[in-house]
Amino acid sequence: MSDIRTIGILGGGQLGRMLSVAASRLGIRCHIFEPGDAPAGDVSCQVTKAAYEDHDAMRAFAQSVDVITYEFENVPTSALDLLETIRPIHPNRRALSVSQDRMTEKTFLNDIGLTTAPFADVPDEDALADAIATIGRPSILKTRRMGYDGKGQVRIGDGPDEWTGAPSVLEGFVNFTSEISVIIARGTDGQVAAFDPGLNAHEDGILRTTTVPCGLQARITTDAVLCAARIANALDYVGVMGVELFVTPKGLIVNEIAPRVHNSGHWTQAGCVVDQFEQHIRAVAGLPLGDGKRYADVVMQNLIGDDMDQVPELLASPNVQLHLYGKGEPRPGRKMGHANRIVAG
Ligand code: AMP
Repeated sequence: MSDIRTIGILGGGQLGRMLSVAASRLGIRCHIFEPGDAPAGDVSCQVTKAAYEDHDAMRAFAQSVDVITYEFENVPTSALDLLETIRPIHPNRRALSVSQDRMTEKTFLNDIGLTTAPFADVPDEDALADAIATIGRPSILKTRRMGYDGKGQVRIGDGPDEWTGAPSVLEGFVNFTSEISVIIARGTDGQVAAFDPGLNAHEDGILRTTTVPCGLQARITTDAVLCAARIANALDYVGVMGVELFVTPKGLIVNEIAPRVHNSGHWTQAGCVVDQFEQHIRAVAGLPLGDGKRYADVVMQNLIGDDMDQVPELLASPNVQLHLYGKGEPRPGRKMGHANRIVAG
């Protein structure tokens, strides 16, 4: 067994909540650090509610745990500078810095031989016209930092050009046939285990459903797993990572990487013996990884805003595993829970 007794998690949202539950099954406690409301706090042994800039609170948090991880990628650098001097952080600093900035991320992906959408740096509004001349239309302008669930994105098409308001990257529009993601784990010993790629459907930039199996040919799914493994190895990664890919007739294009458990991996809770959350805890705690085998066909549906009206019906379905995040009032665009429907097994 590992000598990790307590894991510190930066961020207290639903991902932290499900990580805490998974850790508890292995006899490991979680201490959550979260400046706002913390749905993860309901199921954790300790919560520190403080700003990431509150270094006294950060120091006390770090000293109370054996190892630190995070459930979101926008952890401020100054917080990492402090935490790193006290306890190990997994996944490592490089994984965070690569995924925090879309320019750095795409450059890294190209450097290790993977294909991304064509892209151009757009540091300010004045640089937009040149970038459009290089990349063409249609294209998508995305803020380099802090974008998620389609936020901070503007489509550059035939109408008047909009500006995101922050340093951005202009990406060529990819005519993909489908969107898939690979949830991959890498342990402290360098072993890698991937879950089956899932087929993702988005609406308004937000993930609606993930379906496994994804229905694509084995050469495509194998290639997707190989891409994800290449990224994990290149980053000397420890933990679970989500890699989103576009499938095109010319091959796979990496859209983005998330250095954490990922919404498109929630199906593993119903499809696998060791789900992505336990897999991450195992990796961070230095325990052997589960092998990632899938035992059922699953459709994961996010419950966003008013989708909560479906809860009675979902509870009545014999083949649905329901997860609610304990977040209070539903609001448009707010992820309130998800349902894993077993469609075969
Ligand atoms: P992102 O925040 O980068 O994951 O983008 C959210 C969603 O927008 C993706 O899942 C795609 O459906 C779509 N999208 C993002 N980038 C592109 C692109 N370069 N070409 C076409 N669609 C895109």
